[in-house]
Amino acid sequence: MITLVDNHQSLSDEIRLSSGINFNACLHCKTCANGCPFLAGMDYAPNGIIRLIQLGMEEQALKSSTIWVCVGCNTCSSGCPMAIDIPAVMDALRHKAIEMGVEIAEPDILNFHTQVLNTVKKYGRTHKLEIMMRYKLKKLDLFSDMGVGLKMLKKRKLDLTPSKIQDKKAIEKIFRH
Ligand code: SF4
Ligand code: SF4
Repeated sequence: MITLVDNHQSLSDEIRLSSGINFNACLHCKTCANGCPFLAGMDYAPNGIIRLIQLGMEEQALKSSTIWVCVGCNTCSSGCPMAIDIPAVMDALRHKAIEMGVEIAEPDILNFHTQVLNTVKKYGRTHKLEIMMRYKLKKLDLFSDMGVGLKMLKKRKLDLTPSKIQDKKAIEKIFRH
């Protein structure tokens, strides 16, 4: 058992402050869970994550696969009667999980997120080939999808060199905040 925070109120407050969302308004009506297209891949339903934090079970929330499987599609929040922005809560929890150094339930998803962000930071745009190469390199698995990669290259679905935006300072500014 690791100690993440002094008491459950502090994580609840932290998430509320960083996401700007008062998830304590949740009615646990499960509309979000019923509409989530990725529920089958999650260990807790979206409202279950909220419940864990309310109950002071922050370790389970931060170690859950749910916070990484969520793709931020907003299906849940658009149907929520309390207009709770669940993707913003998931995002705040992902940041917290990394900050606290907890065991990440879906390291491959974190690896992919990191590689996408790295190319945006460098070029102001994604560069698919670099994302794929770095992702596979980190996994020490360079060859398993080689056939698909070659087909994509042949069909010109992958650019060999990245395209860059001109105003790099604007990107630097975004990443500073
Ligand atoms: S839809 Fe909204 S109110 Fe209902 S359980 Fe989900 S987060 Fe809570
Ligand atoms: S934003 Fe996340 S939790 Fe909400 S419906 Fe989409 S995948 Fe599910």
